[in-house]
Amino acid sequence: MNSAAAPSAPTVLHHIAGQRVRGGGRSAPLFNPATGEVTGAVPLGGAREVDAAVAAAKAAFPAWSARPALQRARVLFRFRELLQAQSEALAACITREHGKLLSDARAEIARGLEVVEFACGIPHLLCGSHSENVGGDIDSWSVRRPLGVVAGVTPFNFPAMVPMWMFPLALACGNTFVLKPSELDPTVSVMMADLLERAGLPAGAFNVVHGARETVDALLAHPDVQALSFVGSTPVARHVYAEGARHGKRVQALGGAKNHLVVMPDANLEQVAEALLGAAYGSAGERCMAVSVAVAVGGVADALVDRLAARVSRLVVGDGMDPSSEMGPLVTAAQRHKVEGYIARGVEEGARLVVDGRQCRVPGRPNGFYLGGTLFDRVEPHMTIYREEIFGPVLGVVRVDTLDEAIELINRHEFGNGACLYTADGHAARVFSRTVQAGMIGINVPIPVPMAWHSFGGWKRSMFGSQHIYGQEGVRFYTRYASVMQRWPATGAIAGGSGAGHGDAQAQFSMPVNR
Ligand code: NAD
Repeated sequence: MNSAAAPSAPTVLHHIAGQRVRGGGRSAPLFNPATGEVTGAVPLGGAREVDAAVAAAKAAFPAWSARPALQRARVLFRFRELLQAQSEALAACITREHGKLLSDARAEIARGLEVVEFACGIPHLLCGSHSENVGGDIDSWSVRRPLGVVAGVTPFNFPAMVPMWMFPLALACGNTFVLKPSELDPTVSVMMADLLERAGLPAGAFNVVHGARETVDALLAHPDVQALSFVGSTPVARHVYAEGARHGKRVQALGGAKNHLVVMPDANLEQVAEALLGAAYGSAGERCMAVSVAVAVGGVADALVDRLAARVSRLVVGDGMDPSSEMGPLVTAAQRHKVEGYIARGVEEGARLVVDGRQCRVPGRPNGFYLGGTLFDRVEPHMTIYREEIFGPVLGVVRVDTLDEAIELINRHEFGNGACLYTADGHAARVFSRTVQAGMIGINVPIPVPMAWHSFGGWKRSMFGSQHIYGQEGVRFYTRYASVMQRWPATGAIAGGSGAGHGDAQAQFSMPVNR
């Protein structure tokens, strides 16, 4: 069967209140991108399924949020163990639906697991602050409390890791959760729902509703959804941010990217070429932190392009399940078509096509969604392939004379997710890391995805909202701040005092102050 096959009955179901739910309405086909075959179908939920999931989450909230943080952490400890035990099955599921290498799918689970480990420290993360005797025998303290029902909407490119950027911390903070995963690779999310419940999470505290735009809009409009975390493309991130705000919700919406890697003349070119290869072509370039622009400074371009060309033309493209593959297929035929369109546009607009991946054929896999690694040189800032996110295995080399020019170039771009510098010069590194406008910066590190106890997020049109995702920023996003002031005037009967003195014995019409 090929990509034209019609959707059949759903093979992956919604997960609501601890039950698998078929739902009504339409469904969409699921593909194995490595073979092009239809492997199943996913239901496209609407307002009815969203209402049911939000109601389940709302019902689960009082008891879950009332559990001591240490007990919630213990559920996550058990989830971590189950996740690790099941990681091969989860990784295989990701490779079958997304197409990425099995080793890369394992790594995505491992990076998600780190957020679970971070969330296991929630009793400490939720510690408030206390001040004694702030004035007139008053003690004051501050705490962070859960929001209620929160939702997550996630992209296809990390079907396990990106949801795990969200739900472990949201649940640890005492919220309950509704996940709307990508409709392209949704199965791993219901596998995780099972593991959470096996770990002791009460039914209804974590729900999965499948679907697309209609499902997301129902979540955005639902009065019982307090906050929404979104990760996906910039146009949708903007829509989600604006609609969420219109409905009075707290929203963090992470969008697309165009990540630059600047190569200084003193950089070790062998290291740079290998770093670029992994960062540009890993996961077929379908990563928001993929490097899609190499900025060659001061005459380093020719040597860099020669090295890259030799290596890119030998990239082993194949089924992600085959351990000899270096790069798998794109996620859909439509995505491959879109990326091929960008390559054609690059040629039309005058960039030099050094390696053309469009002729790539994988033996035994004639219908897979493969595209070979593609390399452009002499890319200019006005070109479409420079301005837009391609989200495929296409790297463009831009030539500049100085580091300042490279930084200016990056700072003029509408996206600001990641930016890297390869150099042997500490001063250049310092200038770069202090002045480049990006949320995640790498110095001799090609994909600077922050660890779980830092936080992830871009600047400019790579992110809408004020709090980055996971880490301490995640704790802030999934909680609201409350400050308590308390005074216990002496009652006389117990403490032997008069009860007068520091109480509200007389009305005060001016702001109370310390004198
Ligand atoms: P996408 O924006 O098409 O979809 C993301 C999610 O939004 C999916 O769940 C999808 O069903 C839903 N959606 C799609 N169209 C919608 C609409 N009109 N209204 C409401 N919801 C809608 O993104 P994708 O193709 O799944 O993922 C790739 C994109 O995600 C790339 O742009 C990539 O850079 C970005 N991404 C960003 C980060 C980050 O951290 N900044 C991480 C991963 C991926």
